Amino acid sequence: MGLNLYGLKRRELVEQLHRLGIKDKNVLKALNTVKRELFVGEEFKRFAYDNNALPISSNQTISQPYTIAFMTELLAVKKGDSILEVGTGSGYQAAILCEMDADVYSVERLEELSVQAKALLDKLNYKVKIKCDDGSMGWKEYSPFDGIIVTAGSPKVPKSLTDQLNINGRLVIPVGDRSSQRLIHVRKVKTKDNKIKLLKDQYKDFRFVPLLGEEGW
Ligand code: SAM
Repeated sequence: MGLNLYGLKRRELVEQLHRLGIKDKNVLKALNTVKRELFVGEEFKRFAYDNNALPISSNQTISQPYTIAFMTELLAVKKGDSILEVGTGSGYQAAILCEMDADVYSVERLEELSVQAKALLDKLNYKVKIKCDDGSMGWKEYSPFDGIIVTAGSPKVPKSLTDQLNINGRLVIPVGDRSSQRLIHVRKVKTKDNKIKLLKDQYKDFRFVPLLGEEGW
């Protein structure tokens, strides 16, 4: 498939996401910029701009574009925000966050994926700090974060992650059982009497691969 055709399909996908209710112009712009075909294997490139999750190495998936757009919109990323991603996978979501001018940190538990994603993001000149580890515990060294996005389904909201949020920081995480999860948005706020509170909202149901690890499954 020629480069122009990918560009055309990318634009059509972004228009579809807009029709599906994604409003944040920066999210749409980032999705219209990052070349999703580079983050999947040769045999899946022609499906790169279908609104579907696709297989990547190590039996994992690159999430559906609508899911990525919906979660990124909820994360309310501002230029210069420090964002932690749990579940690097292919590196695509990290590239989207870089395009939104965030400082991006990403943790992946599977070495094969972590190494591949790092090599690809480096090659594309996306400056992401990546480590191979259990991301259910966050990344304390670089905390607190303005935003944390978890791209795997968790049985609960991990305390390590809310602990590593800044005041006014946002956490977006799918929580549920192994077969279906509801998207949870947590915002850490300071009350007038100086108490820290976690405000939780629930959104739609999605289906993610499991978040394994100390504070996951
Ligand atoms: N964000 C990825 C992308 O843009 O391609 C898609 C991520 S995939 C849906 C979920 C990823 O979470 C998998 O690569 C999986 O190995 C990883 N994962 C699961 N549990 C994890 C944990 N405790 N720490 C870090 N990564 C984890």
